Amino acid sequence: MKHIFLYGPPGTGKSTIGKIIADNLKLPFIDLDRIVEKKAGKSIPEIMESQGEEIFRDLESSALKNLANEKESIVALGGGALLREENKLFALENGKVLLLMAEINTLLERLQNKPNGRPLLAGDLKSKLTSLLEARKEHYASFALKIHVDNKTAERNTLQAQIALGRHHLSAMGEYDVIVGDLLSNLPNLQNAIIVTDENIAKHHAERIKRLNIKTIVIPAGEEYKNLKTVHHLWKSFLEHGLDRKSTVIALGGGVIGDMTGFSASTYMRGIDWIVIPTTLLSMVDASLGGKTGFDLPEGKNLIGSFHPPKLVLADVQFLKTLPEREFISGMAEVVKHGIISDPELFELCNNGMEWVKDNVEEVVKRAMAVKIKIIEDDPYEKKIRAALNLGHTVGHAVELVSKFDLRHGEAIAIGMVVEAKYAARIGLARRGVVEAIVSVLKILNLPTRIPDEFSKEEILKVMRVDKKKNAKTIRFALPVDIGRVELVDVNDLEDVL
Ligand code: NAD
Repeated sequence: MKHIFLYGPPGTGKSTIGKIIADNLKLPFIDLDRIVEKKAGKSIPEIMESQGEEIFRDLESSALKNLANEKESIVALGGGALLREENKLFALENGKVLLLMAEINTLLERLQNKPNGRPLLAGDLKSKLTSLLEARKEHYASFALKIHVDNKTAERNTLQAQIALGRHHLSAMGEYDVIVGDLLSNLPNLQNAIIVTDENIAKHHAERIKRLNIKTIVIPAGEEYKNLKTVHHLWKSFLEHGLDRKSTVIALGGGVIGDMTGFSASTYMRGIDWIVIPTTLLSMVDASLGGKTGFDLPEGKNLIGSFHPPKLVLADVQFLKTLPEREFISGMAEVVKHGIISDPELFELCNNGMEWVKDNVEEVVKRAMAVKIKIIEDDPYEKKIRAALNLGHTVGHAVELVSKFDLRHGEAIAIGMVVEAKYAARIGLARRGVVEAIVSVLKILNLPTRIPDEFSKEEILKVMRVDKKKNAKTIRFALPVDIGRVELVDVNDLEDVL
C-alpha cells in the first residue's frame, strides 16, 4: 500500500499540512505520534521521561510498520521517525516521503508558541534546535522530495506539497484523482477494461503496454482520424470486446486519443467510466484535464463533444522520452501559457531552456497541471475564469487554421500569445516588459513569436470574425496584465488586435 509520509524537523507543520492534504485528497489522516501515545497510554514527554528515547523509538518503529496493511493514508511522522535506517527503508518502500524544511528562525517562531510536548527540545530552545538540526542535517538532506515552508500560509504550503507529490483530487463535474507518477504502480485493478491507443504509442511503448495485461485497441495516429468514423469503430470494438456499464475504457495517448476515447466512453451505453493516461506534454498539462471530450467534423475542429470527466488522470512522464521534438516544443507553449496565467515561478523555470526542462520535466508537468486544475475547480463549466485558459488561443486558433495545420497547435498558440500580449500593451493593460518577457521565453524554447510573413492578416481576421459571429458582438480575450495575471477583456474591433 502506498502512503504519503510527511517528514521533517519539528515545527514545519507536518500535522497541519497533512490534515489539509488528507481533506483535499479525500484520504484518511494519521498522526504517528498520536498512535504511539494511544498505544502507550501516555504522552510522548511521559514516555521519554519514564522509559527513555530508545523505547520511544521502538514504539514509533512498530507503529510505523503497522501501517503496512492500512489503506492509503496521509501520515505525519515525528521529526526523527526515519532516523533508523529500517524505518527509512520501510517508508520509501511503502509510499512517498515528502520532506518539509524551514529556516531555523521560522521553526523557532512556531515552536516558541508550543513549548510543551517536544521533550528533545526542552530547555534552551534555540541551542537545542540548532544542535538537533546540525545532527540531522545529512539525514534530512538524503530525502529527494522536499519543499520549503517559510513565509507561506498553510494553504499555500499544502498546494506546494501537492504539486511536489503530483497528487490532486478534483471536484469539478465529477470527482476524480489526478496523479503524476509511475504507470504500473498507480493504475488500479479494473474490471473488464480496455485500452485505446494509437499506432505510435503502441510501437514505442509495446513492452509497458504488454505488462498492463489489458486488451488493447490500436487506431491510426493523427488529428485526421479524430472523426465520427473512428468513434464508430471504437463503439463497435467496445461491443465486440463485451464492454458493459461496469467496464472502464483507458485512453492511452495524446489529446486526439483522449478526446475521442473520452467521447466514445461518454456515449457508449449512455456513458461508462474512463481513465486517461496522457502521453504528450500537451495532453498532460492541458487536454487530459477538465473533462472536455469530442471529435472533429469536416466543417471544423471539436464541433461535437461532451463533458465527461475521467475517473482518473494518470500522467507518467516516462512516456515523454519518445515524444518527437516538435511535439515536445509545441507542448511547452501551453506550459508557458500556464505560467503567464498564474505561476510566475513556472514561467521563470521555462527561461532555463529546453535542456533544463527535459531534465526536470516532472516538476514542469506537475506545476503546469496545477494551474489548470485550480482553474477548472473554480469554474468547471467555463462560466468565467476558465476562459483565462484561452490566452493566446483566439489569435492562435485562427493562425493554426490559416496555416492549414502546418503549424502545430502550440506553435500557433505561441504566436497568438505574443500578438495578444502586444495588444494588451497597446491598450495599456499589460505591464511594461511583459511582451518582451513572453517573446524571450518563447524564443529560448524554440517556439515561433511572429505571424509568418506569407500569412494574410485579412485571412486571419476572417477566421476570427467567424468566431465573433458565434459569440454575438464581441470576442472575449484573455489578456496578460503581468506574468502571473490575466484579465478577461471584451474586444469589438478585431482589427485593433492584429
Ligand atoms: P496527438 O494526440 O495527435 O499526438 C501528437 C503525436 O504524437 C501523434 O502522432 C501521436 O501518435 C504521437 N505521440 C503521442 N504520444 C507519444 C509518445 N509518448 N511517444 C511518441 N509519440 C507520441 O496531439 P496532442 O498535441 O497530444 O493533442 C492535440 C489534440 O488535443 C487536438 O485534437 C486538440 O483539439 C485536443 N485538445 C483537447 C483539449 C481538451 O480540453 N479536451 C485541450 C487541448 C487540446
